[in-house]
Amino acid sequence: MSRDDNPLSDPKNLNAQTLLVHGGTMRSQFGETSEAIYMSSGFTYATSEAAQARFLGEEPGHIYSRFSNPSVDMFQDRMALLEGAEAARATATGMAAVTTALMAQVRAGDHVVASRALFGGCRYVVEDYLPRWGVETTLVDGRDAENFAKAMKPNTKLVFLETPTNPTLELVDIKAVAEIAHANGAILVVDNVFATPIWQKPLELGADLVIYSATKHIDGQGRALGGIILGSKELIEADVHTIIRQTGPSISPFNAWVMLKGLETIDLRVRQMTKNAHIIANFLADHPKIDRLYYPHHKSHAQYDLAKRQMSAGSNMVAFEVKGGKPAAFLAANGLSIILISNNLGDAKSIISHPATTTHQRFDAAVLDELGIKSNLLRLSVGLENVDDLIADLAFGLDQV
Ligand SMILES: *Cc1c(COP(=O)(O)O)cnc(C)c1O
Repeated sequence: MSRDDNPLSDPKNLNAQTLLVHGGTMRSQFGETSEAIYMSSGFTYATSEAAQARFLGEEPGHIYSRFSNPSVDMFQDRMALLEGAEAARATATGMAAVTTALMAQVRAGDHVVASRALFGGCRYVVEDYLPRWGVETTLVDGRDAENFAKAMKPNTKLVFLETPTNPTLELVDIKAVAEIAHANGAILVVDNVFATPIWQKPLELGADLVIYSATKHIDGQGRALGGIILGSKELIEADVHTIIRQTGPSISPFNAWVMLKGLETIDLRVRQMTKNAHIIANFLADHPKIDRLYYPHHKSHAQYDLAKRQMSAGSNMVAFEVKGGKPAAFLAANGLSIILISNNLGDAKSIISHPATTTHQRFDAAVLDELGIKSNLLRLSVGLENVDDLIADLAFGLDQV
């Protein structure tokens, strides 16, 4: 018997934590322990005949890092193993992933249905850019799957949603919307950033493409921007690959390597952040200065049953309304010492933001009202600090109100 006969040499027999440490690794002739960073824009060929064969696709191998690179491949392969996807392509940012995934699938004359509660940039792409290119879009209240069914048209090619949503942590029923999309011959694209690949598996629920801003939990330490699109070989290796190859929203090999190394610890980090978030949600729910809490796995959540069904844990994002309006929310945030005022999320460092005046300030009062973003709402990305310290920090902040 040799190592090749060991059933554990097949990734199918490995659990997620093992795949996250070893999956996708390709060692060079030097046998390095940690994966190499291939900082090379191009690749060489032994002969002109070899170059011709590689361009014809008759021989495997890299050509140019705009469309493939060994460090990027390792990140894509490890991420595909975690997600249970056949294929993946990484991009320079999360927004590049969203724009690429949408542009790869639609053309002028098509119609897109999306939930109205979307990350700022995603809503911009759907609401402002797609119509400029002749793609009609309809935004719906995603909390009721029926709203997607009502918005479908014969030319609807794609449905796009995020769940939980930013910043009010509303949920969309992925399985129900996938069925509606497929019944109409459309594909479903899910932005899974807030749930993380640890707690929610959109492909298993029927989604066709899953997107991440790798900038968030995948890096998890606030260092690098990145994005990734995952799905079937058919969708990824044809349309998605070609648009990246020809238009160039490609990730740097260095950033892909940062993300690859982030994956080694993502399971531990997300589990600990989620544990902290759960304790913090319980603390905030009972706090006299809080009007309302939003946390998917807290029983006060309006879609608690769906949250339990669709997400195996509540993730690390918590939102809450402070009694006393915007001045109260500002006083509470300004009193914090450990928790940073910033707009990133999924970081080891806990981060708080006031969506109405920062990430969502471009929206007028009517849209903010429709999205349920009140002037006293704060969004908290719970990090890896000691949870007693975080609670003491929040208690001090709220005491300033
Ligand atoms: C951050 C984020 C994006 C955009 O990702 P970038 O890496 O910042 O471009 C898209 N969707 C969601 C839900 C996000 O949180």
